[in-house]
Amino acid sequence: MRIGVYGGTFNPIHIGHTSLAQSLVEQHMVDEVWLMVSPQNPMKQPTADDYQHRLNMARIATRGMAHIRVSDFERSLPLPSYTITTLNSLSHEYPQHQFTLIIGADNWQRFGHWYQADEILRRYSVIIYRRPLFDIDPHTLPPNVSIADTPLYDVSSTEIRNRQKLKMTSPDVLKYIRTHHLYFCHTISADSNPEP
Ligand code: ATP
Repeated sequence: MRIGVYGGTFNPIHIGHTSLAQSLVEQHMVDEVWLMVSPQNPMKQPTADDYQHRLNMARIATRGMAHIRVSDFERSLPLPSYTITTLNSLSHEYPQHQFTLIIGADNWQRFGHWYQADEILRRYSVIIYRRPLFDIDPHTLPPNVSIADTPLYDVSSTEIRNRQKLKMTSPDVLKYIRTHHLYFCHTISADSNPEP
């Protein structure tokens, strides 16, 4: 099968993430998307201590979504989680599958700075999805890199953590956040309604 590897911190997962994954499957660009929840993104602050919560929320949000899986594969890999290590380890562990990297246009612009970027391009195909303010000229792309036309949702995990766009994550994820007193919940009562 063609597996799209979609990595992120997912702190927490939101509708931008899930819609994108569903759209790629619906467009048959991949057979499955594996949401690769990163214990520690090399470009972000360490967040390994809340890893299990981030995984649980991703599983809750994608429950019932066909061909979308949440993976903790990077849990057993060295930190920080470098994409080339993840892709090579996945290929070794699942030789029956072909792995494709899924990244946003924002990340594509910085891709040259990624660890072993050339090696990623040499061994794997890449799907770039649209991100606001980041236009990509398709004529400048290497042959194994393609652009996906996916829906745009104006939301980030930061905006969920800051209580700005709570409706952009699933009600069950919000319930989980409140039950486990994550993010904003240590400053408000668990049963109050934080939506402005
Ligand atoms: P944060 O606000 O904490 O930086 P984030 O919302 O950008 O988080 P990540 O966990 O970094 O979420 O997301 C993983 C990947 O998902 C990123 O590489 C990013 O390109 C992409 N992504 C983030 N928000 C959206 C969105 N609204 N629509 C589509 N893709 C998104």
